[in-house]
Amino acid sequence: MGSIVAIVGRPNVGKSTLFNRLIQRREAIVDAVSGVTRDRNYGKTEWNGRTFSVIDTGGYVVGSDDIFEVEIDKQVELAIDEADAIIFMVDVESGVTGMDEAVTNLLRRVKKPIFLVVNKVDTAIRQNDASEFYSLGLGEYHTISSISGSGTGELLDAIVEAL
Ligand code: GDP
Ligand code: MG
Repeated sequence: MGSIVAIVGRPNVGKSTLFNRLIQRREAIVDAVSGVTRDRNYGKTEWNGRTFSVIDTGGYVVGSDDIFEVEIDKQVELAIDEADAIIFMVDVESGVTGMDEAVTNLLRRVKKPIFLVVNKVDTAIRQNDASEFYSLGLGEYHTISSISGSGTGELLDAIVEAL
């Protein structure tokens, strides 16, 4: 089994959109509808001659906010165990949220490479807005637009270098 990269983060930051782009097939479910239970999706991708697996986390039961957080925690713990590197995705549109801080706390002890990825950076103005994510204390971040693909090449360069 080759290397595994897991994408974690709170709902709606764009994890599945990035996953779909990376595996270049529409396997993950991108949905705007609540109340759906979804499983983790696995896919294979290749970059700079390196093949690795990607896990799209986000199988969760939408119900109460409590279940929400517990499920995200479970997904993050699974990813920490299973993955060789972790993409922690946040959303520049919403800015830093309490759930981002909760995920950050789970990741603090992790010795594996963690890539903080600020998604939805579709414009130059949002590039500046992304700096608020320094407050998470995770250091440097990558800015991407999962929809347009901008920034994803640089991100993949860094990931395969770390694998
Ligand atoms: P997930 O819950 O983290 O898997 O998020 P999804 O991939 O399902 O995306 C949630 C919403 O954000 C969808 O409406 C996406 O179209 C939107 N989205 C994802 N990436 C981007 C992006 O780069 N820019 C913008 N503007 N919207 C995005
Ligand atoms: Mg998703």
